[in-house]
Amino acid sequence: MDHFHYRDGVLHAEDVNLEALAAEVGTPFYCYSTATLLRHYQVFTSALGALPDPLVAYAVKANPNQAVIRTLARAGAGADVVSIGELKRALAAGVPADRIVFSGVGKTAEEMRAAIDAGIYQFNVESLPEAELLSSVAVEMGRVVPIVFRVNPDVDAMTHAKISTGRAENKFGIAIDTAPAAFDLARSLPGIDALGVAVHIGSQLTSLDPLERAFERVGELIAQLRAEGHDISRADLGGGLGVPYLSDQPEPPSPAEYGGMVARITRDWNVRLTFEPGRLIAGNAGILVSRVVRLKGGRERNFLIIDAAMNDLMRPSLYDAWHDIQAVRQPQGDPMVADVVGPVCETGDTFASQRTLPRLDTGDLMVFRTAGAYGAAMANSYNSRLLTPEVMVSGDRWAIVRERPSYEDLIGQDQLPEWLSG
Ligand SMILES: *Cc1c(COP(=O)(O)O)cnc(C)c1O
Repeated sequence: MDHFHYRDGVLHAEDVNLEALAAEVGTPFYCYSTATLLRHYQVFTSALGALPDPLVAYAVKANPNQAVIRTLARAGAGADVVSIGELKRALAAGVPADRIVFSGVGKTAEEMRAAIDAGIYQFNVESLPEAELLSSVAVEMGRVVPIVFRVNPDVDAMTHAKISTGRAENKFGIAIDTAPAAFDLARSLPGIDALGVAVHIGSQLTSLDPLERAFERVGELIAQLRAEGHDISRADLGGGLGVPYLSDQPEPPSPAEYGGMVARITRDWNVRLTFEPGRLIAGNAGILVSRVVRLKGGRERNFLIIDAAMNDLMRPSLYDAWHDIQAVRQPQGDPMVADVVGPVCETGDTFASQRTLPRLDTGDLMVFRTAGAYGAAMANSYNSRLLTPEVMVSGDRWAIVRERPSYEDLIGQDQLPEWLSG
């Protein structure tokens, strides 16, 4: 459920009229709904209601805007970070360090130092060399840091290959059958305390089966580790629950079904569980608002050329992703069929092919739905386009939470070498 709906013939974000907002902010821009963010967070946490004291660590990479992180942090969320930049963002947004987990295959000594210094809840360690480096950094700092090993269960998440992370050929985690050896090594290393296991098999999962299989393997591993004398008190079940992108497709599993499955599988685990939802929280809480630059009739197709492009929202060009498109003015007249494209000089700059659309013409406003996760987060300024600004709405209030840079900002970041200056 979300809070984007037509009122008096105009699409609103909560109580804010998007036509009026576009006139103030200019297009394209991202718009986030506070009520939707909070609702998704609450639906997820209440689906975990049967579990004792779970930690819900919002995956910051889905949408790292500090306004988003702080909204969730005030509701009680922790953060799952994958870089020193995300760590700094989460801390700046007010996430308590003891609710932050640090994931990722490439943590550097500098990142480890910053996270140890902050006092985070745990490192999700993805290899033995990483455990060794973390041990030496912690010893240098005179600290003992809690870790869990991220295991790779070799389960096919049945999602897009580029966001599948739990197969043996993926770079993530340690092979699950080598985990006991990793715990033995960790026991011999000073400065780290191996407390449990983490798993995250991919994103935009539309079936619970692969998750259930992965969690079962984690359960077996926990039992084996305990039998070998390791104290296991934590398990991190990652994120990955899908969201509906197509309004006319079957819904992905609900958080309630997920919570029921988790409660059943983990019944005897006797650990504190962590969850890392990203897309589920932020996806349907954001839209990308764009204006039609012109309608170009072609010999074979009509092209609706809009002022947003692949650099603003990469998912269609990167993952062939579908985003529902709506007109900001409630549509009148017959639908049309067109390719929706941006101005960037690449054929991949296509949001939709041969899409049946509401009737739209030059100057009209339209939105891409479900753009709150992996949207602005991945935006860039390819073709020297300005980074897309972000707006957050709460009831009838709105605020720019990331400004559109100026062309001076964009160009001024280049520096001419001394031999070209003057
Ligand atoms: C990306 C990621 C997540 C969040 O995935 P979603 O599909 O957005 O829920 C959680 N944990 C890890 C380790 C990730 O890399």
